[in-house]
Amino acid sequence: MIVLKFGGTSVADAEAIRRTAGIVASRQDRSPIVFVSALAGTTNALIGLAEQASRGQLIGALRAVENSRDRHMEQAESLLGADCDEVCEEMSAMFDELAALAEALSVLGDLTPRSLDTISAFGEQLSSLLCVAAFKAHGLPVEHVDARQVMITDATYGLAEPDPDAIAEAGHRLLLPHVREGRIPVLGGFIGSAKGSGITTTLGRGGSDYSASLVGAALQAESIEIWTDVDGMLTADPRVVKQARLIDVVGFEEAAELAAFGAKVLHPMTIAPAVRKGIPVYVLNSRRPEGTGTLITFDPPRRKVTALAGKGDVTLVKVRNPRMLLTEGFMLTLFQAFARHHTSVDVVATSEISVSVTVDETTHLEALVTDLRALGDVSIDRNRGVVSIVGAALADGGSTMARALDALGDIRLHMVSLSATGINLTVVVDAEHVQPAMQRLHDAFFPGEAAP
Ligand code: ASP
Ligand code: MG
Repeated sequence: MIVLKFGGTSVADAEAIRRTAGIVASRQDRSPIVFVSALAGTTNALIGLAEQASRGQLIGALRAVENSRDRHMEQAESLLGADCDEVCEEMSAMFDELAALAEALSVLGDLTPRSLDTISAFGEQLSSLLCVAAFKAHGLPVEHVDARQVMITDATYGLAEPDPDAIAEAGHRLLLPHVREGRIPVLGGFIGSAKGSGITTTLGRGGSDYSASLVGAALQAESIEIWTDVDGMLTADPRVVKQARLIDVVGFEEAAELAAFGAKVLHPMTIAPAVRKGIPVYVLNSRRPEGTGTLITFDPPRRKVTALAGKGDVTLVKVRNPRMLLTEGFMLTLFQAFARHHTSVDVVATSEISVSVTVDETTHLEALVTDLRALGDVSIDRNRGVVSIVGAALADGGSTMARALDALGDIRLHMVSLSATGINLTVVVDAEHVQPAMQRLHDAFFPGEAAP
């Protein structure tokens, strides 16, 4: 058994859904369980209309409901022609319910996380119905399963915590019997229900990967395929380095470092349940199903450099205090100030008398700096960027790091930090040097590779 997950762009319209049906068909002999996201953009639209309604702007909210209804109906008609009556009726009933909820919110004038979940869950409920109808028309023996019966969570609306035991139990009861009899269960990702009450919850934005990973882990899938609109993970962002190429295998920890420092293919934490159980997770492109994608695994080949990531728009905060030498608890006080001002810290380097940290978020910077002044001289460098070199064997010997610093040449470095795990060497540079730094490193570590 394998688990397939199709993201919003893979089910964005009739054409994409047809391609997706073809991909499912090509995996039919491997007993797939299928998760689908909402049609691209739908979750944002639903959240937007819920907010609008609760602000009392009912007309705008109802217009958004009708726009979404039209979009879903059009795709259904394009996929099914005259045979779309049944699914169109089902979806239409859901849109009526959505409109009624919008009205209720506009009367209440209040949007709780619980009502927001109820509304944002419509996207996956609709897309899973639509896909089931389309896959059936494609000749696939599919079976719609309400994800809320399987994805059992706690009641933290908006970011519900899944209950792995309950999910395993429900998966064995509601999914595996279909699989055994040659049917393909199709479920919406992202949504679940609270244990006990059965009230609809969601797993957080982008949560469909998490759904696929949780079910794959609970049922010991042979592999999980995350179908999206890029070829997989690349050695660098191709908009920054045009010679970037596909990475065939990446370690889970490498993927996590890359995601934190700019690569946005998926949020690695969402696939952790599966990767931890040794289940291979592939990232694949539904626009080019013949591609080989990227495999994310716990034990990748120990490459010196697997990929580069970079981002501009970083602020460097430096605190210098000669008295820091030999004092206890200085770091504690310092980081408490960051926590108090809800500013998350990215890269850190320290010397005996100074600490430098980078931050992405500067909303609370002014208040933070006021507090930090009590700890020493503070300086703020805006317009910095970070470039990360990631590889499982990066720190084996010193030669790779030496080569990296050598490749950067005359680019001015404001900070250098090697992660505790030794797999990420991050340098802070001027924002305008992120691109040339990435290019030079790529030329050094991935020479002569042309774009695919
Ligand atoms: N539709 C949800 C979102 O946009 C979940 C997902 O796409 O994974 O966040
Ligand atoms: Mg999405």
